[in-house]
Amino acid sequence: MKTLDTFDFKNKKAIIRVDFNVPLDENFKVTDATRIEAAKPTIDKILNEGGSVILMSHLGRPKGKEDKYSLKHIISKLEEVLERNVIFAEDCMGDETAIICQNLQEGQIVLLENLRFYAEEEAGNEDFAKKLASYGDIYVNDAFGTAHRAHASTTIIAKFFPTHKCFGFLLAKEIESINKVLKDSQKPVTAILGGSKVSSKITIIENILDKVDHMIIGGGMTYTFIKALGGFIGDSICEDDKMELALEILEQAKAKNVQIHIPVDVIAADSFSNDAKTQIVEVNKIPDGWQGLDAGPKSLEIFEEVILKSKTILWNGPVGVFEMPSFENGTLRVGQFIGQASKNGAFSLVGGGDSVSAVKQFKLEDEMSYVSTGGGAMLEMLEGKTLPGIQAILED
Ligand code: AMP
Repeated sequence: MKTLDTFDFKNKKAIIRVDFNVPLDENFKVTDATRIEAAKPTIDKILNEGGSVILMSHLGRPKGKEDKYSLKHIISKLEEVLERNVIFAEDCMGDETAIICQNLQEGQIVLLENLRFYAEEEAGNEDFAKKLASYGDIYVNDAFGTAHRAHASTTIIAKFFPTHKCFGFLLAKEIESINKVLKDSQKPVTAILGGSKVSSKITIIENILDKVDHMIIGGGMTYTFIKALGGFIGDSICEDDKMELALEILEQAKAKNVQIHIPVDVIAADSFSNDAKTQIVEVNKIPDGWQGLDAGPKSLEIFEEVILKSKTILWNGPVGVFEMPSFENGTLRVGQFIGQASKNGAFSLVGGGDSVSAVKQFKLEDEMSYVSTGGGAMLEMLEGKTLPGIQAILED
């Protein structure tokens, strides 16, 4: 794998695709600098070696040039995080920017304006990619969040650096973490899959059935399985057209010797609201007018036992409606069990959308071995897809 250690950056200009698609408040202040902080090690390494850095990113989904999506809004936060001055190029194209990049001195940083001000970026336009490529000597991709997109700056640009391209620290760490779960994993391997729908998780389930020893299925998906098995789920969320698929998954799991753990009891509510009346019921005996919104205590005992004996853990999707305090307990406890297992030496990866939000909400980030930075990109990797941005670096 080509990493930052493959090259000597002395007197070299590194053009780095970063993911600075950060949230801004109504005064255009950065409200969460995690993504900027995540890019710092890569930037520091290159600058400390005597190189210079050209940073490029997108911000939001602008339609043409829109001031509210200008990356100028993030400069002060970027300078604060990097503890260095940053030159801003007000256009990612054009002669002026080419000259700024040409004159860049050792230790200097330039940030290019939002790449998506040009439709060519998302279209994967070659000329646009070639122009960006002309600014630097070495291409570094450190944007996992967009690695599943074949955009000009994430994929197409790589062809203009046949030998001089590599992964940044962040992207390398993402690849390494997922490989630790799906390729070189220590057994027993447990996947915890939650979320609302079987349909959105099916490809992941199918891809990882060959790689895990245990699979915990929680959240809204539970009820499609339970109904398919003949249980009564009351008004719980269910995809009737996926019931057959659910039974097939159970068959496949049996054939592959994967133990499936579905909740045995749930916290049922009389409406989808935080103030609903609740009761603990067996998962297959939910009365009409009630819906399961969180895992119950017996289920959590089972989950705890499975998680604590695992050496590798993958977590994708909450086991309850964690956004409502009344139904957050299951997801919180699962996070805590994973934290405990990690403390005992297991490797844990949390990836893809809502479980990452849950981990952040419960302040459990430091308890996990790795929390992925890319929602959609991580989901596609879990589905077994090769991401174009990663492929572009790997191929000669
Ligand atoms: P997903 O985007 O498919 O990962 O689903 C995440 C969402 O599933 C979260 O917003 C949860 O609130 C929701 N969820 C989890 N458990 C349930 C449940 N029992 N009923 C309805 N929604 C749920």
